[in-house]
Amino acid sequence: MTGTRYVADAVVPCGDVLTVLAPGVVDVDDGGRIAWVGTESDAPDRPDWTVHRRAGLLLPGLVNVHCHSPMTLLRGQGEGLPLSRWLAEVIWPREARIGPDDVYWGMLLASGELLRYGVTTTVEMYFHDEEMIAAVEASGARCVLTPGVVVAPGWERFGGWEQQVERITALHAARNGDQRIEIGFGPHSAYALPEPALAAIGEVARDLGALVHTHLAETEHEGDEVSARHGGASVPEVLAGLGVFDGNRVLAAHAVWLSDADLGLLARHDVAVAHCPGSNAKLASGNARLVPMLRAGLRVGLGTDGPASNDDLDLWEEVRLAALFARLEEHDPTALSAYDALTLATRGGAAALGRDDIGVLAPGRWADMVLLDLADPGFVPVLADRDLVAHAVWSASRRLVRDVWVAGRLVVRDGECSTVDLAEAGHRVQAAAARIAGQGL
Ligand SMILES: [Zn+2]
Repeated sequence: MTGTRYVADAVVPCGDVLTVLAPGVVDVDDGGRIAWVGTESDAPDRPDWTVHRRAGLLLPGLVNVHCHSPMTLLRGQGEGLPLSRWLAEVIWPREARIGPDDVYWGMLLASGELLRYGVTTTVEMYFHDEEMIAAVEASGARCVLTPGVVVAPGWERFGGWEQQVERITALHAARNGDQRIEIGFGPHSAYALPEPALAAIGEVARDLGALVHTHLAETEHEGDEVSARHGGASVPEVLAGLGVFDGNRVLAAHAVWLSDADLGLLARHDVAVAHCPGSNAKLASGNARLVPMLRAGLRVGLGTDGPASNDDLDLWEEVRLAALFARLEEHDPTALSAYDALTLATRGGAAALGRDDIGVLAPGRWADMVLLDLADPGFVPVLADRDLVAHAVWSASRRLVRDVWVAGRLVVRDGECSTVDLAEAGHRVQAAAARIAGQGL
């Protein structure tokens, strides 16, 4: 076995406890997996391996657990509208005009943007799956693609929910064994699908061991009709009753409007949560109860949500917002430590997906890594190891991301994405967005 040894000023693997290895070593084998992590003084002898010395702080690549990346095509549209009007008046009419080629360029632009910010894995719910996959293959990113299943005006062009589920099942079989792209199911929400569809998706996904990624309790009244049809049961109770949670890997996005009983139910079924504090604040949907969720034992990761409701793909911002909102909500500055906030975006995200091959710099996991530039005022002073983590969370940001690797492959070099021509993708998205918005028709 040969590979590459990376020696950095400091390495924070993001394991169960805060560890700072300084100088730290990450050995990456030629297959793109991590072979060894530790301090330089303890490193095993590997005379045949290439050695790269990097100035900076090496971390696991960030894991974005809820996104609709091709909405780069709609970024900023409908600014200031409440969610229901924003969807009905702006987003859905425009999405009806989005073609496969648009999705390719929208996804490619987003994928390059995500990588440049150090986000190496993204969980996607959108449509035109083949173009999504082509864009992710081109960018070199890692993706859990959960094609959307929706029954709503404009979606007839993708067939009924049965056809949508069949298509995803076939896609899952076709991509079986893919090292970077995992296929799951994206039933949009309980309010956008009939009950038989939800139950059927739960069953198919269980058979395949596939992720079920759905919106849950994003806004206060979105589930009212569903509840009314079920004698006042909460939406989580309805989904549990339909068997969607039984034996499944379920990822619930937003999870804002949930009672203690709902949180207990999610915990009992080991349902994971994609916490999206930026999107929830921007659309005034509410603030998810992060600390009670963690206390209940829920697996929680962080999501940017789509770039039309955030409006960027900067997961560092979500790390800060998660900590800020949790502290405000609890009236307690110790409610979520800087390290706990950082690990929500790394180890926590991986755990929320049920993935033990990403999210931590540890032997056997993929070498998805981010190098932050320490030669910046934001990292001065460092008087103790934990200062590196505090600075990374509070005063560093995406602007300090220097190099990014996915499975050991360098995809961002010195702040520039080397796999995506962002200028070209930007021009393509600009032209497509104008057409989609109805300009020049
Ligand atoms: Zn969403």
